[in-house]
This record gives sequence, C-alpha cells and structure tokens, in this order.
Amino acid sequence: MREVSTDILILGSGGAGLFAALHAHKAQLRADPPLSITVAVKGLLGKCGCTRMVQGGYNVALAKEDSIERHFMDTIEGGKWLPDQDLAWKLVTLAVERIRELENELGCFFDRNPDGTVHQKAFAGQTFDRTVHKGDLTGIEIINRLAEQVWARKINRLEEFRAVELVKDKRNSAIAGVLFIDMRTGEYVFVRAKAVLLATGGGPTMYKYHTPSGDKSCDGLAMALRAGLSLRDMEMVQFHPTGLLAGTHTRMTGTVLEEGLRGSGGYLLNGAKERFMPRYDPKAERATRDFVSRAMFAEMNKGNTSPNGGLYISMGHLDREMVRKQFKGMVERCADCGFDLAGGLVEVVPTAHYMMGGVEFAADCSTELPGLYVAGEDAGGVHGANRLGGNGVANSTVFGAVAGDAMAEWVRTVGSFSEIDSSVVEAAISRCDKPFHSKPLPHGSLEPVRERLYEVMWQKVGIIRDATGLRAALSELDLLESELNVTGVADANRAFNLSWHDWLNLKSLVQTSRVIAEAALARTDSRGAHFREDFPDSGPLEQSAYTSLHNTDSGLNMTLKPVAFTRVRPGATLLKDAV
Ligand SMILES: Cc1cc2nc3c(=O)[nH]c(=O)nc-3n(C[C@H](O)[C@H](O)[C@H](O)COP(=O)(O)OP(=O)(O)OC[C@H]3O[C@@H](n4cnc5c(N)ncnc54)[C@H](O)[C@@H]3O)c2cc1C
Repeated sequence: MREVSTDILILGSGGAGLFAALHAHKAQLRADPPLSITVAVKGLLGKCGCTRMVQGGYNVALAKEDSIERHFMDTIEGGKWLPDQDLAWKLVTLAVERIRELENELGCFFDRNPDGTVHQKAFAGQTFDRTVHKGDLTGIEIINRLAEQVWARKINRLEEFRAVELVKDKRNSAIAGVLFIDMRTGEYVFVRAKAVLLATGGGPTMYKYHTPSGDKSCDGLAMALRAGLSLRDMEMVQFHPTGLLAGTHTRMTGTVLEEGLRGSGGYLLNGAKERFMPRYDPKAERATRDFVSRAMFAEMNKGNTSPNGGLYISMGHLDREMVRKQFKGMVERCADCGFDLAGGLVEVVPTAHYMMGGVEFAADCSTELPGLYVAGEDAGGVHGANRLGGNGVANSTVFGAVAGDAMAEWVRTVGSFSEIDSSVVEAAISRCDKPFHSKPLPHGSLEPVRERLYEVMWQKVGIIRDATGLRAALSELDLLESELNVTGVADANRAFNLSWHDWLNLKSLVQTSRVIAEAALARTDSRGAHFREDFPDSGPLEQSAYTSLHNTDSGLNMTLKPVAFTRVRPGATLLKDAV
C-alpha cells in the first residue's frame, strides 16, 4: 500500500479545515525544521462541503451597542441551557478575532453600511442584529478567499481522497494516521501523521429532505465512533423550515430558502392557501426554526399539503422590488426550478440542516485520543439543543483556527510518528471491500436502501418523535445495516466507482443514524430541536444533562452527563443592564 507521511493531517476543507491549515502554517513558521501540513478532502478543495453554501452569514458582536456577553446569552438560551458554556464563550469571543482576520488578512469583502461600518443583519433567536454577510451568498466569499490563501502556501493537498478509518498506534494510546481511498484510482493509501484534525462537517444527509452538500455523509462521526470516541447531543438535529420542494427529479429539493424570507414578512400557507402559523405560535412565521418546523410538520400530517406534499411560502404581499433586491440568490434559485419567489407561491418543506451533536472535545479542540483533534460541525457541545443561524460558520472558523494552533504546538512538543497495528488497517480494508465480495442488488442500485433510510429517519427520528417510533426505527436500521452488508456493487473497477462510494456513504449514515435514534430514545424530555410527543416538557433546566454515547463490544453505551454551568446558571444572565 502507498504510504505518505505528514506532521499535521487535516480531514476536510470547509471553514474548519482551511482555517486549521492556515493557522497551523502560521504557527509552524517558528518551527525548525518546518512542519509539513496536509489537507485531505473527499471533494475538490474550495468546491465542496457546506461552508461554501452559507447564505445568511456569520454571527459576531461587533457593534458598540452589542456585546460578547449578549451574543453568549443568546447562544446559551437558544441552546436551551445544554451548550458547554466554556466552548460557547470561546465561540463568541474568538468570532471577533476571526471576522477581522477574514477581512483584514484573508481578503473577504462583507457588505457595509454607508458610514463604512460592517453591515449586520437580523437573524432569528438573537436579541441584536449581528449577522455579518455578503448578500445572501456569504459562504462563497469566505471559502474562495480561504482556498486562495491555502493554495498560495506550502500546504500539501490530497483531493478526492476519502478518509475511511482513524488508525491508532500499536499501544492503542494515540492517533498514528488515517486510512484513505484515493477516489481517482480506487487504491488504498495510508497517511501517517503526528496530529490529525477531524473536520469532515457532520451533515444530516440521512433524512428524506436535507440541505448539506452531497459529499457529506457523517464519515467523520462514524470513524470517531469506531475509534471509541464519545459523541454528545446526537439527538439534536436541526430542521430548517423552508427547504425548496421542487419534485423528486431534482437535487434542488431540500435546499434552503433562507430564514430572512420569514424574517422580512413572508407567510407560510397550507395546501388550501391559508396562513396557519398564527394558530401555532404568537410569533407566527418569526418563531424559531424548531417551532416553525414542528408546526409545519403537524400541518402536513393533517393532510393540508401542496401538490408535492409540502406547504407554500408566499412573499407576494410584500414589495416585489425589495424581495428581488434583498434576496437575489433565492429569487434566482427559485426561478431555476420554475417558481416566482417575488410574486407567486413557492413549495417548501422542513429540511434537515445541521447536527448540533458531535465528538466530545476540550476547549483546545483535543479529544480523548491523544493527537486527534476535532473542529466544526463534527464537534459537539458548542450549540446544545439548538444552533442559532449564523453561529455555524462562526463555530467552524473559530475552532478550526484553535485546532490549527493547538496541533502545531502538539507536534512541536509531544507528537511523534508511531508504529501502527496493521491488523486494524487490514480489518478496515476488508470492511470497505465488502461490496466487491457480495452479489449486487438485482436492480443494480442502492437507491431502494437509501429511500428506506430517508423514510425511516424522516418519519420516526425526525421533527416529532416518540418511544414507539424510535424503537421501530432502530429495528429498521438494524435491518438496513444487515442488508447493506450483503449488498454488492455491480462494477468491479475501483477508479471513481461512485456506487462503491455510495455504499460507503450509506454505511456511515446508517451507523450515525443509530446513534441519533438511541440518543433520542434516551432523552425523555423535549428541548430545542428534540421534541418527544410522549415527553413534551423540557424538564428542570437546573438539572440539564446531555447524552453521551460511545461504542463498546456489546453495542452503544449511553450516559447522561450533567451540564456544568461554569459561567451562568439558568434564570441568571451576564447582561449588566438586564432587569
Ligand atoms: C445551505 C446551507 C446554508 C447554511 N447557511 C449558514 C449560515 O448562513 N450561517 C451559518 O452560520 N451557517 C450556515 N450553514 C451551516 C454551515 O455551513 C456549517 O455549519 C459549517 O460551514 C460547517 O463547516 P465545517 O468546516 O465543519 O464543514 P464543511 O464546510 O461542510 O466541510 C466539510 C469538509 O469535509 C470533507 N469530507 C467529508 N467527508 C470526508 C471524508 N470521509 N474524507 C475526507 N474529507 C471529507 C468535505 O468534502 C468538506 O470538504 C449552512 C449550511 C447549509 C447546508
């Protein structure tokens, strides 16, 4: 097998991966000899992942009237008192540094006010307008500038390289490297490293309707689980209320129509073209994502749907020019699918958007496994039960940078190349090779398996859950896992074998789906994104606990761990002027 060695190995090239690479690079300038840094990514650097898809923007307390304490309180209250408070504090304080770095060192242009200050817009769940943006296509600006900066430096790139296993040293005591498939040739490659960053971006693509990019299939979370790491808050999957519903023939279905549409006065209508949100919540369409998604799901379950089984968003009662100007990207996206956003009705459906859960980690991004770091959407604990719109890209850039600094320091002071247990690599290869030794499905496609996964996650582990449904889902997931294990792919040629990669995607998704369902079954209350019809109350906030799951020889082990209120207790606030 081909082997490559690097001091620092970064998995993923979203906001977290690229910030880590740039910060590790800056830190290594002081090292003698210089450290080698490699970014390995499933797609093409700069062209894949969700950071590029960020529409609304980046939350940061910049304005004089705003404060990091206010941003912190919004994050804690939005997260229903489940966030790790030290991580949330790090997020809000370092977001200020990162946004300045993005503008002043890395070359991003964000929208500005006539007086030259950065324009910050309103986002749901926040008590201050603090979302920095570039129109409604903020992610393209951020990722293009980050990618240019990475290309300009001596940072190695392994593109269309899929990580399939985290490999520990012989003593099982530290990370030693990562096993990959070079997707262009189909060969296995082992990359030996002293420090590894997991930044593969989570991504709830196991739901029938979802927003994240197609390259994301929870590979990082599945690898972390197999490596014995604990995942927290996995029941917390955020649904965005307005996913485009453009029919089954297009991948545009599920993609997000941004929150600002509701914020600026858009209405949601049911199949009979009646406005229904005021019946569910006094804030109507401006309620938070979880409330609006639940109301929409309930309305759809009553059969009050549009022709494709969803609902409508209507902007027609507002000033058309304002809609065309303020939501240019959204208007064009809808027009591409035959909808007139400014004047007509657009079919929408709640869509799985973000995973608040992920690998448990410390404030320097280190994990339980020495040498392994985690950042971005793969990491759990920053957002608790709900992520505020705008805190996602702040999270990936802030913790990506922290991880880059910390890994460079680790490699300089502690990290070393270590011998690996080759039996682990052999077992991983035999797991990945399985579909070449099984019979392909008679219809030659994995589509039916995917459809069943979509359906079970959407119906039973989605917006509204209960114990009966969750147990049924776990049985169905077991069945899907066993079926996948004996399902082959028709083409034995490994170079760019997309069916093989689809099979691997489904394996990661089924494995992660089990963790979501187990955590959802264990949490017998309703908080933020997690709603149990059989336990609708949120429980006492003072006794808040988070779910933590890890793999054992006898299956998944679940613990409820108390939240440490290290900065503020429920009922209190850090805001001095609060009454
Ligand atoms: C449509 C959309 C709009 C959004 N809008 C906003 C917004 O307005 N504001 C906000 O704050 N957040 C928003 N978000 C959320 C935000 O995009 C994410 O929180 C954030 O960008 C995640 O960054 P990341 O670096 O963790 O992951 P990503 O940017 O998703 O990057 C993950 C990387 O990992 C790679 N990868 C995956 N698997 C493997 C593997 N096995 N091996 C190697 N590489 C792998 C991928 O190819 C990709 O390069 C939005 C998300 C979506 C989908």
